[in-house]
Amino acid sequence: MRGDLIPLSKFHEECGIFGVYGHPEAANITYLGLHALQHRGQEGSGIVSSDGHDFSEEKGPGLVLEVFTKERLARLPGRMAIGHNRYSTSGGTHDKNLQPFLVNFTLGYLAMAHNGNLVNAQSVRDELEAYGAIFQSTTDSEVIVHLISHSREETLVGRIVDALTKVKGAFSLLFLSSEGLIAVRDSYGVRPLSLARLRDGWVVSSETVAFNLVEADYIRDVEPGELVVINEHGLTSYHPFAPTRQAQCVFEHVYFSRPDSRVFGHNVYSVRKRHGLRLAKEASVPADVVIPVPDSGIPAALGFAEGSGLRFEEGLVRSHYIGRTFIEPQDSIRNFGVRIKLSPIREVLEGKRVVVVDDSLVRGTTSRKLIKMIRGAGAKEVHLRIASPPIISPCFYGIDTPTRQELIATSHTIEETKQYIGADTLAYLSREGMFDAFPPADGAGQPFCDACFTGNYPVPFTKEELVQLGLF
Ligand code: AMP
Repeated sequence: MRGDLIPLSKFHEECGIFGVYGHPEAANITYLGLHALQHRGQEGSGIVSSDGHDFSEEKGPGLVLEVFTKERLARLPGRMAIGHNRYSTSGGTHDKNLQPFLVNFTLGYLAMAHNGNLVNAQSVRDELEAYGAIFQSTTDSEVIVHLISHSREETLVGRIVDALTKVKGAFSLLFLSSEGLIAVRDSYGVRPLSLARLRDGWVVSSETVAFNLVEADYIRDVEPGELVVINEHGLTSYHPFAPTRQAQCVFEHVYFSRPDSRVFGHNVYSVRKRHGLRLAKEASVPADVVIPVPDSGIPAALGFAEGSGLRFEEGLVRSHYIGRTFIEPQDSIRNFGVRIKLSPIREVLEGKRVVVVDDSLVRGTTSRKLIKMIRGAGAKEVHLRIASPPIISPCFYGIDTPTRQELIATSHTIEETKQYIGADTLAYLSREGMFDAFPPADGAGQPFCDACFTGNYPVPFTKEELVQLGLF
């Protein structure tokens, strides 16, 4: 979900969603599920639970383990629940932007949690406000709630479908009402959403990694364009939206999802490792060791080492205890931001020709500092290998990317980027190499969105939206 509609050039909206139907400890299970999805959002977290009549909500800023105390979880009774993790923003945190949203309208209580991003949220919001709608948050997601409330359809499902045909962009959504749990994925299938069984109940999650933790059995993905209703009658599936080409976000595999998840039918770790194997074929270099930028670069570095026959070593150690904010002590400590996160192992690096493997290069600022740090620890040569193609376009569908101007690949050639980051050599994985890592699809054509690498956006924009998104 989008955090800040103004200015529209800021993108900070990766999120994780999780829901439970038919379990006596629905809120506790949701809490665990959200913890497993913590990487998808660290700004704040919320859960709404219900017994079918009363609805309870608990939300707050911070990590899942910080937000939910035993006492707060005890205030979330009922056999169904949905939860949401919001991505950390660089701007202010507004508690009103935390989800799930819980509203009470003509059809009763409705809670909603959104992962994705709507590209026409601003114009829909302007229109709704012109008719007197009062928004509580500055998120794009809230327009969906207003559209549902304004719809003239009789049933809740009818209203949700009506609302979603008026928005454009990416949405994986969970709704909770007295009628049960509803899960929806946009027709492009941009963001993931998967279904599992937990005893007699059901669980829905952004990523399957959460199923592992709560010991739920993965059944299948919610299909692109599918709406499922889960209630006392079981699961009912609808396909209410016009079919379109699938455009599942390839960056979920490159960087965002956890390696132990199965996303769009593929295990993330295996895909990243194959990216590394392929990169070794495409851009090998004489060297002594291969090191990853932990954590997201590890599988690709393992693949690169295997593919090149070079030794894999841990050359950087990552601190997992930074939290959301830290106080910068003194200007005199150089590269503090990187240093607090990653620390070099001199014994691995000293005197060596080092291949450093990372999953992606965005602004180039982290890599520049890292390479300085690796050289400072005595490395003789530093060769950077990136397990994805150059990023040339911002994401408008729910991944946090900087503006076009801030992306290093839009203004620098590979040679210029190499010089800027201070590497001896720099190479990216080819686009073909990235897609070859996915076993062939069932003839349905290329099922991914790779707009960040190509600028080819699957959801067409109007001129007005392009202006609002800063693209025109
Ligand atoms: P940069 O210095 O801006 O090129 O940052 C590159 C690093 O950012 C890589 O190590 C990536 O793993 C990481 N990265 C890539 N995409 C994102 C994102 N959307 N949010 C946070 N970190 C990211």
